Amino acid sequence: MAATPLTTPHTTLLQKTHQSHAFLKPNAAFHYRASRKPFSVSCSSTIQDRPSLQSQSQDRVFNFAAGPATLPENVLLKAQADLYNWRGSGMSVMEMSHRGKDFRSIIEKAEADLRALLNISKDYAVLFLQGGATTQFASVPLNLCQPDDIVDYLVTGSWGDKAFKEAKKYCKPKVVWNGKSENYVRVPAFDGLELSPDAKYLHICANETIYGVEFKDYPVPGNPYGVLVADMSSNFCSKPVDVTKFGLIYAGAQKNVGPSGVCIVIVRKDLIGNAQEIASVMLDYKIHADNNSLYNTPPCFGIYMCGLVFEDLLEQGGLKEVEKKNEKKAGILYNAIDDSKGFYRCPVEKSVRSLMNVPFTLEKPELEAEFLKEAEKEKMVQLKGHRSVGGMRASIYNAMPLAGVEKLVSFMKDFQAMHA
Ligand code: PMP
Repeated sequence: MAATPLTTPHTTLLQKTHQSHAFLKPNAAFHYRASRKPFSVSCSSTIQDRPSLQSQSQDRVFNFAAGPATLPENVLLKAQADLYNWRGSGMSVMEMSHRGKDFRSIIEKAEADLRALLNISKDYAVLFLQGGATTQFASVPLNLCQPDDIVDYLVTGSWGDKAFKEAKKYCKPKVVWNGKSENYVRVPAFDGLELSPDAKYLHICANETIYGVEFKDYPVPGNPYGVLVADMSSNFCSKPVDVTKFGLIYAGAQKNVGPSGVCIVIVRKDLIGNAQEIASVMLDYKIHADNNSLYNTPPCFGIYMCGLVFEDLLEQGGLKEVEKKNEKKAGILYNAIDDSKGFYRCPVEKSVRSLMNVPFTLEKPELEAEFLKEAEKEKMVQLKGHRSVGGMRASIYNAMPLAGVEKLVSFMKDFQAMHA
């Protein structure tokens, strides 16, 4: 394309609205001279169709981070196209009033798409909050019970443990099972659990991000009037979930559905408003529910990004399809580990291995640094295990393309051949 002299930096490409599903090639070059002369823009790219989810542009890496984590390429490109001027509004989503009709349409669409994805009924409120999943460790007990109430925590990893410890400040939590002595490698059988008959809720962490332990089905609270509460931060929207089994689901967005700074809470409406005295209005579900998540200034841009991800998941055919892709990706990675004759090892019991976070160790730990260095040379980054467990961890959330996992597996095989 020939250089187009413009008097302002507004290019037609940046003005492109996302309804057109046209994208700017990410390596498009904009040149302008820092002078008083008018900007000159040269653009060597063409408008493209939506890129395939399998494709990864040359200048991006495969990011195996546990969160903040990789986002779908086409979502990033959509956001890029919208960034400067959202749908002809003349401003970015970052610049909009959260009370204006444009942002309201964004948050309402995000909520509607999430409701469609997870089949969330009108009996549940959907809240988009600040404060990360960690804030929910306090908000959950503060909103769901009184200081003397008993609640149950089933601890299958360090996030569940953190949630339990926070709850101790606000009510009387009891650990009904703790996998720590076995190094968090499994989920217990539910029928052997000694659940409290009067617990207001039973809390689980549906996917332990650090240890890679994922619930494949869910326990029922010991109290018939109690509810199940789940931290789904690291497997949110990775598969269909029957929301009716839960009183409350919460999830930090930065693993599967968006950037950090947004926490999504799905809570049965009849549970809202029975809270103990809550010192901070920010922790009070009722205030957020009554104001449709617009009580204070919500994380607007993050919510917009989550909305793009939800839309993308619906376009992929919904969560059943997404689950199939995740099973395929996790399957080839776990097979590579299990078939390595002990060169690589995943300690987690096979029946509860996470589809999202795959921890593994090397038989020769002295090779870990070289593994990471060589992987990075191949543009595969953030494979180091959590500092508390060591080894490796490949987080393969929804947005990790199959090609990324295939490349990792092929690298692992080559690395083994070189060092076995
Ligand atoms: N729960 C789980 C399962 C997590 O993985 C994390 C973050 N890694 C958290 C809670 C805490 O989330 P945040 O950093 O958003 O507070």
